[in-house]
Amino acid sequence: MRVPYNYLPRQFAAPDEILRRWRELIESSEYTLGPYVEEFESRFAAFQQGRFCVSTNCGTDALILSLRALEIGQGDSVITPCNSFYATTGAIVAVGATPVFCDVDDRYQISLSSMQDALQPTTKAVLPVHWAGASPDMLGITKWASEHGLRVVEDACMAIGGQVHGAAPGSFGDLGAFSMHPLKTLNAIGDGGMVITSDPDLANWMRKYRNHGMSTRDEISIWGVNMRMQPLQAIVGSLMIESLNERLHRRLENQRLLDAALAHIDGIQLPPRELWNVETVSLYMIRVQNRDKVLRMLIEREVEAKVHYPTPLHMQPPAQRLGYRQGDFPNAEQQAREIITLPAHEYLTADELNYMIECVATVVAESQ
Ligand SMILES: *Cc1c(COP(=O)(O)O)cnc(C)c1O
Repeated sequence: MRVPYNYLPRQFAAPDEILRRWRELIESSEYTLGPYVEEFESRFAAFQQGRFCVSTNCGTDALILSLRALEIGQGDSVITPCNSFYATTGAIVAVGATPVFCDVDDRYQISLSSMQDALQPTTKAVLPVHWAGASPDMLGITKWASEHGLRVVEDACMAIGGQVHGAAPGSFGDLGAFSMHPLKTLNAIGDGGMVITSDPDLANWMRKYRNHGMSTRDEISIWGVNMRMQPLQAIVGSLMIESLNERLHRRLENQRLLDAALAHIDGIQLPPRELWNVETVSLYMIRVQNRDKVLRMLIEREVEAKVHYPTPLHMQPPAQRLGYRQGDFPNAEQQAREIITLPAHEYLTADELNYMIECVATVVAESQ
């Protein structure tokens, strides 16, 4: 039996409704911004407890737009975890600021005590990540940031539909950034992004900046760029958001099943789950010894496990110039050697889940 990591063929097995709306779009000529993008923004706003929503071309642009809106750039440093996807740090570097890395806890989330160690006179903002669809201690982080006069941009790219103390990821900081990349919870069949904020002035500035700084067709008020979301993607986003809660519910069920089956197996370490955090199960990660051997043996059995990621950001080649070395962040480095991501998406069947659990148990026992 094959347990696929890629759920896209199942997610879009019946694309008729998407194709019907795409045909409507093609006939309307509304190809840049316009009613389809506005509709998606307002549906997303309803989902996000009414915050201002500004759509972008992708999650990376949403992060860059957020940092620009807060006027973070040359001479500023931004505190961020060393175990995210490249785009988190890439966005900081793209606006001309300096990333300052810190370590993570046993939930794989940025650790507040490591953030305190990373504080410098040039620190202007923190960029915590809701990594893997779980969330860091956002209440502690925002409290600490405000005590030090720091702005907060949340990388909630993987966390659309999650909850932290009953509120949405992305709603704690000044700005929250999301992605609609195909492997995120709200897949728009291509790239897409969103920034949310409760500050109308920041929202207005971002709306302008992402569309060439235009205030009217004939006048710009600032120099801007093109970071616009495409209507093709907005249409899919509007459709997929309708089923998001139900799909996330099935993921949580899978997480519960996997946790229950794997927790008691010798040689497997699970991240602790917190009652205040409803996760989106974007990456279901366990930790094992002899990870590469376990990975190989799972793949031989057609369980499509992955590693997110084998090399932390501070050990990537472009980070060497910033003076980081192996040993700087022991938790993240140890996790990078031990983590393995198992398929846990909402399209898995009970048979596939059971087969995967059986394989993981066998393989871990044999590989120790
Ligand atoms: C996917 C992702 C991004 C980038 O989003 P794109 O839409 O692919 O540009 C940034 N940060 C995190 C944590 C992500 O998972």
